[in-house]
Amino acid sequence: MHCVFCDIVRKKRSAQILFEDNSVLAFEDINPQAPVHVLVIPKKHIPTSLDIKEEDFPLISYLIETAGRIAREKGIAERGFRLVMNCNREAGQTVFHLHLHVLGGRSMHWPPG
Ligand code: AMP
Ligand code: ZN
Repeated sequence: MHCVFCDIVRKKRSAQILFEDNSVLAFEDINPQAPVHVLVIPKKHIPTSLDIKEEDFPLISYLIETAGRIAREKGIAERGFRLVMNCNREAGQTVFHLHLHVLGGRSMHWPPG
């Protein structure tokens, strides 16, 4: 099945990449919902958080650590930021390749919409 984020991983589609190594990739969201809106993804294709296996636990921890590092680099770490991982339709997941949204640079509301 075609996956837009796998295309970004394989450089078949361009993105504004902020960080990349062997296991993760961070890039600017194409439709930002806040002054800072970065997506952090594993290079491995995992469709949703429900598909995370025990062998992926170190990768998922690293994904969260990378998100924090991006927040620091973007200067929003101390002010505060939000990490969002949507799962399936009612949560609004549109790309079925696991990703963590890093959102910040403005006040976040609760409860989320
Ligand atoms: P979600 O709704 O949680 O599945 O989030 C998918 C996110 O991917 C949305 O915020 C989109 O704006 C973003 N997105 C979709 N295609 C691209 C792309 N080619 N480059 C960067 N971000 C994208
Ligand atoms: Zn994928």
